[in-house]
Amino acid sequence: MEKTDIKSLDYEQVQSLVLELGEKGFRAKQLYQWMHEKLAESFDEMTNLPKGLRAKLAERCAYTCHTVVQRLVSGIDGTEKYLFRLSDGNVIESVLMRYHHGNSVCISSQVGCRMGCRFCASTLGGLTRELSPSEMLDQIYRIQRITGERVSNVVVMGTGEPLDNYENLLQFVRLLSDEHGLHISQRNITVSTCGIVENIRRLADERLQITLALSLHASSQEKRKELMPIAYKYEIHEVLDACRYYFAQTGRRITFEYSLVGGVNDTQEDAAGLSRLIGDMNCHVNLIPVNPIKERSYVQSNRAVIEAFQNKLEKNGINATIRREMGRDINGACGQLRKSYIDEN
Ligand code: SAH
Repeated sequence: MEKTDIKSLDYEQVQSLVLELGEKGFRAKQLYQWMHEKLAESFDEMTNLPKGLRAKLAERCAYTCHTVVQRLVSGIDGTEKYLFRLSDGNVIESVLMRYHHGNSVCISSQVGCRMGCRFCASTLGGLTRELSPSEMLDQIYRIQRITGERVSNVVVMGTGEPLDNYENLLQFVRLLSDEHGLHISQRNITVSTCGIVENIRRLADERLQITLALSLHASSQEKRKELMPIAYKYEIHEVLDACRYYFAQTGRRITFEYSLVGGVNDTQEDAAGLSRLIGDMNCHVNLIPVNPIKERSYVQSNRAVIEAFQNKLEKNGINATIRREMGRDINGACGQLRKSYIDEN
């Protein structure tokens, strides 16, 4: 029999499991607290549970707990990059960013990615497999345990396409915001997608309070196809309509991510085109100077071009910020640390 992934179960599911094992109901609360509040590394740590119960749990359940392969701390801004090993030997990366408003963790949602965005390092080796809810959670748990600092914000912007792993993502959000766990407010959770239309609509219907970030990266359908293969599947207006629907259902302002690639999508005409596309929406644009990867020839736009792009959006009444680059000294962009580790080993 396959072992139950116990850290992916919600509170009620843990209760049923405990009863099934012939134990008293209050054990569920203790167990859940050890897993999701005290962030225990194993059943052995759960000292107020009887040894017999711990043995039964170990026999029946798999306990997700990542091991740290590498931890890099930036000397510039305290950003930390983690490379974790999963129980099957795969590696994933996560990032801790320290802001005035609190600590933010960027997590991976899949091992690899099949979306194929041209500038992204995470997709170069394709998709290996999905991450379970517990494997998404444990990136945050391990970082909070290791640093001893509370994580207040979570962004699902690491390797993988979260809406390509929909059910697990949803369970992850529920567990992360559960009052019996870390209880991170849904308003402090952001999910970034390349734009899988039907799943944006499904997510909207869940009426959660999480922020949706849409990776737009282009001012027209034609240009989007050059950078993002997913644009062959969904037309840009279809994606934007799904974002409008998300706002209508949840009242949450949409974030658009726009990676500026030198000479590709950074002209004043692009800024004007983008303004026309999203000018009617309650949104925010996050401009990301592209982080060049060696497998592609893309370069960053220069600073003046980036600022002119932002100004143009602002003039058109669109709220836009330029993302501050963090942890520049510790292997920058999404998926690069994992990729260099795999290449070397
Ligand atoms: N699959 C999701 C989330 C992962 S990527 C998505 O597509 O949104 C998080 C963000 O970083 C996306 O906007 C992605 O397009 C962007 N990104 C990836 N690699 C980048 C790079 N080298 N430079 C700049 N932005 C990059």
